[in-house]
Amino acid sequence: MAGSGQLSGITVLGSTGSIGVSTLDVISRHPDRYQVVALTANSDDAGLLEQCRQWRPHYAVMADDQAAERLLQNVKKEGLETTVMSGADALEQVAALDAVETVVAAIVGAAGLKPTLAAARAGKRILLANKEALVMSGRILMDEVEQNNAVLLPVDSEHNAIFQCLPVNGAQNLAQGGVEKILLTASGGPFRTTPVEMLENVTPEQAVTHPNWDMGRKISVDSATMMNKGLEVIEACWLFDIEPQRIQVVIHPQSVIHSMVSYIDGSVLAQLGNPDMRTPIAHTLAWPERIDSGVQALDIFEIGHLDFEAPDHERFPCLELAYQAIEQGGTAPAVLNAANEVAVNSFLGHKLPFQGIARVIRYSLEQASFTDVETLEQVLSADRQARELATEYIARL
Ligand code: NAD
Ligand code: MG
Repeated sequence: MAGSGQLSGITVLGSTGSIGVSTLDVISRHPDRYQVVALTANSDDAGLLEQCRQWRPHYAVMADDQAAERLLQNVKKEGLETTVMSGADALEQVAALDAVETVVAAIVGAAGLKPTLAAARAGKRILLANKEALVMSGRILMDEVEQNNAVLLPVDSEHNAIFQCLPVNGAQNLAQGGVEKILLTASGGPFRTTPVEMLENVTPEQAVTHPNWDMGRKISVDSATMMNKGLEVIEACWLFDIEPQRIQVVIHPQSVIHSMVSYIDGSVLAQLGNPDMRTPIAHTLAWPERIDSGVQALDIFEIGHLDFEAPDHERFPCLELAYQAIEQGGTAPAVLNAANEVAVNSFLGHKLPFQGIARVIRYSLEQASFTDVETLEQVLSADRQARELATEYIARL
């Protein structure tokens, strides 16, 4: 265990991404506590090779076969001892290794679901950034965590803040703990004040330029549409076992308060900090201890004031769609998530206008057939159907 001399083994799924790199930055500050056992990426073999040189992991996995082949050649050439593997099954394998205590789930999108489930089945401590996994299959993932004594800790900054503000005896017990509601903060993204009539023509480059956070492209677009907050409402429902009506989205442009919990006695607890994901990553890595994250302390005088406003649903229709999906339940959130992934990809590829994202999702939710979620196959089938519907809608434009 960490702190007692023995190193704690870690797999970072999605290690070349924004969260992956921030995770390795925190780990680099604590060589006495953690050992990187496995790193994974999609197709950036150059990025993963660089990480292999620095971290000397036992395993490196590339989802893409050709990228894995290139990585393997280079690993051999440089005489590194890392075992290179490829494909979706290998991602699941390194999420479940005996030598691994903690799995950082930082793959973006539905691709992260199966390896995250594998980590849960193997009873790991899961640091969850991959919110899409929980949105798609909340019931299944939460059940696997419980049945296998896994531990699920939220890296998403809002959920991490809520986790820190919850009653001491934990997230299982909100009503008894006197929690009335959750105030989920949102920055409002780059288009918070852009005239609504101009939104149709905003570009991917404008959309991925977030005012406060430096993140991957998909979540940056999700922040611009506020679908990110919609996904986070659903994520919070599962993590904290709370009804969607008790989650209130609050626009807070400074992104200093990362979320709040409101109690029946009138107390509102908030977690504050500079907008830097290394704080929630360090918090979940060491929990229940605290470790240095490399993040500077908040200078409250420099911030001066904090602003709050209600979200504008005309500007951000995706938020409403997410509430509808979680109210609907069953496979509806999986449909919402898949249609969003297809739409965001098309927008990033200049094949769909910004406001088309919400139209694609609305269409997919209207056309899809929903079922209850009892098996993973039901989730994956809803995901496939929604991708087909969204693709077909976009092709007709
Ligand atoms: P990113 O695009 O920067 O990185 C994604 C990582 O996943 C990369 O390592 C990539 O190689 C890997 N990947 C992508 N597609 C894959 C596939 N098909 N198979 C296997 N691996 C694949 O994304 P990010 O910003 O780091 O976000 C990762 C997750 O964390 C997302 O679910 C996001 O919503 C969540 N999150 C991110 C932030 C942030 O600040 N970046 C904050 C909160 C939550
Ligand atoms: Mg977040």
